[in-house]
Amino acid sequence: MKNTLQRTILHMDMDAFFASVEQAANPGLRDRAIAIVGAGKRTVVTTASYEARALGIKTGMSRFEATKICPQLTFVIANNRKYTDTSVRIMKILEEFSPLVEPCSVDEAFLDITGTEKCLGSPEQIGRNIKTRIKEGTGLTASIGIGPNKLISKLASDIEKPDGLVIVKEEDVEALLKDLPVNELCGIGKKTTSALSALGIHTCADLGTYPIGQLRAHFGITGEQLSLMGRGIDTRRVMTTGEQEPVKSLGHSTTLPKDVSNMEDLARIILQLSEAVGARARRYNLNGKTITITIRFSDFRTITRRKTISTPTQDSHAISKVALALMDAERLSQPVRLLGVSISSLSNSDPDLAQHGQGDLFQDKESRIKTDKRLAAMDRVNRRYGSATITWGTLFKEYDDSGVISPAWRPSGPRKIDVK
Ligand SMILES: [Mg+2]
Repeated sequence: MKNTLQRTILHMDMDAFFASVEQAANPGLRDRAIAIVGAGKRTVVTTASYEARALGIKTGMSRFEATKICPQLTFVIANNRKYTDTSVRIMKILEEFSPLVEPCSVDEAFLDITGTEKCLGSPEQIGRNIKTRIKEGTGLTASIGIGPNKLISKLASDIEKPDGLVIVKEEDVEALLKDLPVNELCGIGKKTTSALSALGIHTCADLGTYPIGQLRAHFGITGEQLSLMGRGIDTRRVMTTGEQEPVKSLGHSTTLPKDVSNMEDLARIILQLSEAVGARARRYNLNGKTITITIRFSDFRTITRRKTISTPTQDSHAISKVALALMDAERLSQPVRLLGVSISSLSNSDPDLAQHGQGDLFQDKESRIKTDKRLAAMDRVNRRYGSATITWGTLFKEYDDSGVISPAWRPSGPRKIDVK
């Protein structure tokens, strides 16, 4: 089947991004096996350099596992600021090549380069030029895939990693997908893979030729989507950040350095998470009406509890009050491994109105303005000097800014950080 409108989509994916940024910044780390980790005790490897990958180091390994496999491995604590700054620079470079740039994570983006041949050269030339500009501008290598749609270009960028450039033409899609295992397609995870496997579907060709009716019977409306994916068809547009759906929720979660059952300690962490959520909400001028907490117990059982309040808020105290009440209402039968706080049902706050304090109807106007001023000042300092520079007194004891940036981070706009 042929797309009605032929498009040329480019997918850019930085190579071992966090590790490469560190190696570019510090010559002592170059050509060495390094792993980027968070500051916490129970952190895992978020990115390994290619040298470390060659020795068997993988994303998701604990420090302990990684050291066992590779005793000479150098651990580098993640520096989110460095990665986000570099990401912003890379996205700016991409915008020189097309107005249609969709950053899809901290180190990946789609570009629609349809029709740019006349002024920028062939797709291959554009791919080369982008790689050169990124290398010159940041010292880093990117892998690029070019294809008739997002699905295929994303697949292509992975084929020659690192420093790759792969172009897949429409007429080559069928051959590319023929023997490709379905789980190689972006969007088909472990669960779907095993469900497909139960139907005898292993390769993309199996998927693309399977009767749609039966896929629909098994997977509902996604059945159709799966069938299209199996045939390499993807009609999703490249959407710039401005076009994308507004964010639906803002949240922070943390895996605790060790399982915790002491309520006082848990309450302090809830307060800390609420402050992080509130700061982000204020930064993007958003108010949340629904407050949700996530609790994961030591046996990995996970519960979420939510409450909708009458007046949307961005006040950390108002958020924490609800979050704490939700936690208090739970009988915690086991130590807690992870806690998360998020707000949803978001609305834009009117910058002319002081709304921070509206979570508390009994707070008079004067003290509300005071709260606003205090929050704004705190946010200003924290934005400038790091997230925990000024925080609520009760947080001082063990505030540990060990979070590694979510790979889903994008250069603009608020993001939901999912509970992993
Ligand atoms: Mg990457």
